Amino acid sequence: MKIKFLGATGTVTGSKYLVDTGKARILVDHGLFQGQKALRERNWAPLPVEASSIDAVVVTHAHVDHIGGLPLLVRQGFHGPIHASSGSYDVAQFILPDSARLQEEDARYANRKGFSKHSPARPLYTEKDARNALRLFVRCKYRLPIGLAPGITAEFLPAGHIVGSAHVRLTVENPGGPPLRVLFSGDIGPYDAPILPDPTPVPECDALLVESTYGDRDHDAVDPRDELAALVTAAIARGGRIVIPAFAVGRTQEVLYLLNELREANRIPQVPIIVDSPMAEQATKVVLAHVEDQDEEMRERARSGGPLAYRTAQIPKGPRGSRMAARSKKPAIIISASGMATGGRVLHYLREMLPDPRNTVLLTGFQAMGTRGRRLFDGEKTVKIHGEFVEVNAQVKMIPRLSAHADRGQILRWLRTAPRPPRTTFVVHGEPDASAALRDKIAGELGWNVVVPEYLQEVEIG
Ligand SMILES: [Zn+2]
Repeated sequence: MKIKFLGATGTVTGSKYLVDTGKARILVDHGLFQGQKALRERNWAPLPVEASSIDAVVVTHAHVDHIGGLPLLVRQGFHGPIHASSGSYDVAQFILPDSARLQEEDARYANRKGFSKHSPARPLYTEKDARNALRLFVRCKYRLPIGLAPGITAEFLPAGHIVGSAHVRLTVENPGGPPLRVLFSGDIGPYDAPILPDPTPVPECDALLVESTYGDRDHDAVDPRDELAALVTAAIARGGRIVIPAFAVGRTQEVLYLLNELREANRIPQVPIIVDSPMAEQATKVVLAHVEDQDEEMRERARSGGPLAYRTAQIPKGPRGSRMAARSKKPAIIISASGMATGGRVLHYLREMLPDPRNTVLLTGFQAMGTRGRRLFDGEKTVKIHGEFVEVNAQVKMIPRLSAHADRGQILRWLRTAPRPPRTTFVVHGEPDASAALRDKIAGELGWNVVVPEYLQEVEIG
């Protein structure tokens, strides 16, 4: 069998792997590339095979960089099943149509400003394509083998990254030998995070693809509650506000969970919490509904009342509500998407709040190269928002422990749970330095055979 790396090489986006057994073709994930323009252009690259020749798709989780390309695949002629965990199935219902609307908006904007190479500019796909993709989704349970195509099955194992996130293990019949097993880590959640369970121990496998978002760094061991409490209290004491760019699915609920705890313990001032993301309400319902994606503490808190500071949160109505909430000077904690400040309503808040030194911007997750979030993190003194240069005088902070990804030490902790070393480990889903650092660590500390594959590289397993 062969695996071709169609994405998530040298970058944390565009996850896409083509598995070809000679008898069947499977895609694992079909995500969008995000960040730098050269990467985004890969979203338009044709597949190396006919889309209609692919038997099935399996998705590790429902973030856009893992499933956002599916509507395009369906428009190109794919008509097989898309297997997803139950949580991913529910998240995809609103993530894919939203991604389509963003594509359509971008194309309209490019046409208005006349800066597209194509004229008229076309969206990568439309909302109709997204609806067509959703019709192909199949809801799957964790830990139950699922037949994908002749001679190939898949299992989903909870990965602790977001609701529905999974490590996916493929088992492929191998004439004349034992079946071959390949584990795709997907995005690996951190250990001991709120709401979600720890990642599932690595099962028996012949080949392993492991993500490396934080392959070159360890988060400090400080309890994120202490940092969050200190930072909120300081900003409010200065008469400022706090804005938290966060993915609607994942970080938003975790931040609400922690704010709820801090409020109950009277560790932060009782200021309004504003959740301004059209998807956050749907995402929060999905998180609360999927008990199989909750740890014991979350289940216990859910039994005894609201675990998230959500019922007390204010939700602005429509874009006009957002603009008004953004212009207000009243102390508040605002959570809004997108998580890397590449678009979405959080831009209204950043535009109003960045010039004022009393305010704080709190980044909660990995900020990919080329994104506005990364520029802020790197300390740039002006950023461009909606075509205007905005001065950055607000404090910009990061609480790495709030990230949805395991750090280097935790990735190694996860790898050490393997019953035996895989024959080959492929380090993917990281910027080049991070992937190289993790490769060296795995080779040095575990003594495993490990490589960093390149974009479009094909490898033989077996
Ligand atoms: Zn993810």
